[in-house]
Amino acid sequence: NDILETVRKDLDISEVRYKNWLEPFFVYDYKDNILTLAVDNEGRNDSFLNYIRKNYLLSIKVAVTEVTGKECSDIELILVDKNEKVEPPKHQTFSRNSNDRKYTFETFVVGSNNRLAYSACLAVAEAPGEIYNPLFLYGGVGLGKTHLMRSIENYILENYPEKKVLYITSESFTNELIEAIRNGNNTAMTKFRDKYRNIDVLLIDDIQFIIGKESTQEEFFHTFNALHQDKKQIILSSDKPPKDFETLEDRLKSRFEMGLMADIGAPDYETRVAILRKKEELDHYSFDDDVINYIATNVKSNIRELEGALNKLIAYSKLEKTPITLDLAERELQNLIFPNRPIEITPEFIIGIVAEHFHISVSEISSKKRSNEVAYPRQIAMYLCREMTSAPLKSIGALLGKKDHTTIIYGIDKIGEKIKSDEKTREVIEILKKKITPN
Ligand code: ADP
Ligand code: MG
Repeated sequence: NDILETVRKDLDISEVRYKNWLEPFFVYDYKDNILTLAVDNEGRNDSFLNYIRKNYLLSIKVAVTEVTGKECSDIELILVDKNEKVEPPKHQTFSRNSNDRKYTFETFVVGSNNRLAYSACLAVAEAPGEIYNPLFLYGGVGLGKTHLMRSIENYILENYPEKKVLYITSESFTNELIEAIRNGNNTAMTKFRDKYRNIDVLLIDDIQFIIGKESTQEEFFHTFNALHQDKKQIILSSDKPPKDFETLEDRLKSRFEMGLMADIGAPDYETRVAILRKKEELDHYSFDDDVINYIATNVKSNIRELEGALNKLIAYSKLEKTPITLDLAERELQNLIFPNRPIEITPEFIIGIVAEHFHISVSEISSKKRSNEVAYPRQIAMYLCREMTSAPLKSIGALLGKKDHTTIIYGIDKIGEKIKSDEKTREVIEILKKKITPN
């Protein structure tokens, strides 16, 4: 979903088109750098797939790398029979936080925003169960919570192979619990409890999803107590501190708060640059300073997006075989950096609106006709194109059937004059401007 959402933003696809063309796809397989996306065949055929290939494939490829950091040499699109039971998508191997990316302390850049969290995590990894218990990490999305948790897991796997460590998202925890409850027998529940109460280090990521779900919260409370009593290490992450959870029972709140709470904030400019440089080093790439500076200046609040921007440029430059320049960055990162910018106003767009307003056709307004019904709207269009776009006079002229740019200047000046003296023209300009930029 994140990949498709990224494509949507990137290409500025309308909601309706998105629902129709992209949303129905799901991950079917990922093997040898080839990603297979499938869609059911209800009302779709090969030409549907061809349309997607032609219009969206490059952007999807780039988005795959942008979102997951994984390379994708090709994408296959397939139709699956809607009546056949489709194999469950194997996207477990394709999730963003699967531990194949080597989240480690070495690849984590320390800055003033995350120093406390980093030190606490390292301390806990070195001496699990002995210092801060539980360790509660909190901070907004994409700021490094999962990276730190996975680093603890990896550190323990490597340095204390005898210890049982389990990293799990609160979503999976919930699903496993529901499954155990649904099976309805004691063995299923016992198995669940055994699993969670016999480990040395338990890391639960994004605990906010457990909070408020009564039965999950209750079961988690027991797990927590059992582990804590045995001096087993518990590490939790969340998007906010315990005190901000309104529906969290006090007994849980106080348990969460009895160890150490460490928050992670947004990185400052220097840290952002350092993260980009680190990533560059890990990926064996070399970027110009101005590209790094451009990204670090503009992508501020989320490290996932910061990396995503870099991934996107790498993927794009590989696929299109072009060097990564500031120009490329400015062009390709537009929608990431200015997500709410309105669609670009072009001279064509303006001319279309002006023609419509005066009930004449675009070919008439662009013709050489000099009658007043056409000449006046044409001058209005010239004026608005000049004022509302940065298109050169020459190209405005070309669109309006005027080769000579003095005619354009004449038209623009004429309307400029009229605005001062003629109420009607002033009104028309105002109405048209509103039509061109509705908000
Ligand atoms: P969260 O879990 O807080 O939403 P993640 O841990 O998934 O965020 O981080 C998002 C991305 O940013 C990951 O790819 C992670 O490796 C990277 N990242 C976050 N913080 C740092 C950091 N300090 N140094 C290097 N990479 C970082
Ligand atoms: Mg996370």
